[in-house]
Amino acid sequence: MLSVNEIFYSIQGESTFSGMPCVFIRLSGCNLRCHYCDTAYAYSKGRSMSVNQIIEQVSVYECPLVEITGGEPLLQKKTPRLAERLTALGYRVLVETNGTQNIDPLKDHAVCIMDIKCPGSGEHEKTDWSNIQKLHEHDQVKFVIGSRVDYEWAKEIVRKYRLQEKVEILFSPARPSMTNRELAELILQDRLHVRLQVQLHKWIWPHETEGR
Ligand code: SF4
Repeated sequence: MLSVNEIFYSIQGESTFSGMPCVFIRLSGCNLRCHYCDTAYAYSKGRSMSVNQIIEQVSVYECPLVEITGGEPLLQKKTPRLAERLTALGYRVLVETNGTQNIDPLKDHAVCIMDIKCPGSGEHEKTDWSNIQKLHEHDQVKFVIGSRVDYEWAKEIVRKYRLQEKVEILFSPARPSMTNRELAELILQDRLHVRLQVQLHKWIWPHETEGR
């Protein structure tokens, strides 16, 4: 069984799939407490569901794109199995993880979006850096950047781990302390080959969190 906070249908706001309709499976529980967290409601609240029950609920939306998120989805042992089953059924599956848990069990059953926590999160020392070697070519890494310090730190991580040679890199501003424009100008100034992402869902539904 898995503890599920919510299953909802929305527009994918991040990653290279941004803009696409997507079914989100938000699992309960997180081992981090990022300062800017907007999904604190998922820390503990959840209902117990089997993999089959989740798949049945996902199928209602007739949508080929599914994201398993949290909280931290890899805290639950059955998450890789859920990703594997969904993939076998023909869904394109994304798993967003905070990078502190071993991503190996996902194998290549899902696109892993590893959210590498910057200093501004207050949780950047918890990343399991051995995960970098386990990323597949189709995976993505994401940095939420709230300050110049975060930006310089993220730039150094990209350089140190040669991420540009491995995966798609996403830079996301943590508004309001970093605006889209500020981050865009920094990226251009430094000639970084990274993708600016603006968290599209927050522009469409600026005052909503749950179910978005
Ligand atoms: S990892 Fe995600 S869910 Fe967990 S505290 Fe950080 S932002 Fe919130």
